[in-house]
Amino acid sequence: MLSTSSRLHTFVYATLLSVVLICATVHFTAFIAPYLDARGIDTVTITAAIASCVLAPPASVIMAIYSSKLIRVQEQLLELATTDPLTGLLNRRAFAHRYERESARYSRTNCPVSLLLIDLDYFKLINDKHGHSAGDAALRSLAEHLRETSRFGTDDVARWGGEEFAVMLSDSGHQSALRAAERMRRQIETLKVRFNDTSIHLQASIGVIVCRKGESLEMAMQRADLCLRQAKAQGRNRVMAFPEELPAEKDASVA
Ligand code: GH3
Ligand code: MG
Ligand code: MG
Repeated sequence: MLSTSSRLHTFVYATLLSVVLICATVHFTAFIAPYLDARGIDTVTITAAIASCVLAPPASVIMAIYSSKLIRVQEQLLELATTDPLTGLLNRRAFAHRYERESARYSRTNCPVSLLLIDLDYFKLINDKHGHSAGDAALRSLAEHLRETSRFGTDDVARWGGEEFAVMLSDSGHQSALRAAERMRRQIETLKVRFNDTSIHLQASIGVIVCRKGESLEMAMQRADLCLRQAKAQGRNRVMAFPEELPAEKDASVA
């Protein structure tokens, strides 16, 4: 955030510059006043014109610097508020925001939205075996992979927490969400993660649901988590979908 000292600095700088310019204008006008009077030219008008010409450019520059600083700070704040610091993916808050938008669109257009909840298997063992930094590197690699393979502009990927990731597939019904999840599971299994000179092998379990119209993200994620726990219980490294087909589902995407 723009610090108090930075704001004070800009204010003091602007004030000092204004005082200096006003003094310079007054002195300059006093200096040329006799010549103006001798020619019958109105001193007040000339003073005002000179003051405007001298003061306006630096004032504009200061305003421009200050507002560009503010815009930069706003952008940094927005990034901090919406992204996960380790992976750079969306955080929960940003994902929830996107979900609201997609859920509303689903109600309007009847194009279904699906959610995938991905949890890395035995991740604690990876930390134990290779160290926490290696675990972090693996999370970053997976995030990068998910970001690259998600359909730009339509799918959203978030770090849901720890070693869990959430993917929202727009215009995806039961079949295409299942296909996408299975494809992701296989890709995670073959993902090449290297940290220093060791290679880390990942695998994941994935819970899949098709959202219900008007369903809250919390409820949807609870159902996805239920599927995920079933996948874990059945041996991990697998995809489990919520046992339901939506009526009149428009399955627009092709995996
Ligand atoms: P399961 O197959 O049941 O999911 O087993 P698991 O070991 O993946 O799950 P568990 O919940 O037992 O452990 C999760 C591990 O993820 C423990 C925790 O230290 C690790 N973890 C969570 N967040 C981070 C992180 O940001 N960086 C690293 N390196 N590890 C993390
Ligand atoms: Mg977990
Ligand atoms: Mg896990």
